[in-house]
Amino acid sequence: MKLDQPYKCDVCAKMRESDANRWWLLWMVTEGIPPAGLLLGAWDPVLAEREDVKHACGEDCAQKLVQRWMQTSSFEAPSSRPVAPGAARGAE
Ligand SMILES: [Zn+2]
Repeated sequence: MKLDQPYKCDVCAKMRESDANRWWLLWMVTEGIPPAGLLLGAWDPVLAEREDVKHACGEDCAQKLVQRWMQTSSFEAPSSRPVAPGAARGAE
């Protein structure tokens, strides 16, 4: 089914053109315990409309948003050290 107003992935800019694919939502929590955190949830049409919610087109992009948040405490890509797609973690 084609969607009238497709969402865009906040990582790779892919459009969510149908309900067929598994998309994820991520948003920051700035109140409560812990004082700052990250929430990851399954796609929800109501939640997806919130301004502070980020849209990820799949596991890879959801993981990138998690990674960004861990590195910068925001969803902005760290400009100084870009994360290579599929970079091996063994070197650390
Ligand atoms: Zn994506």
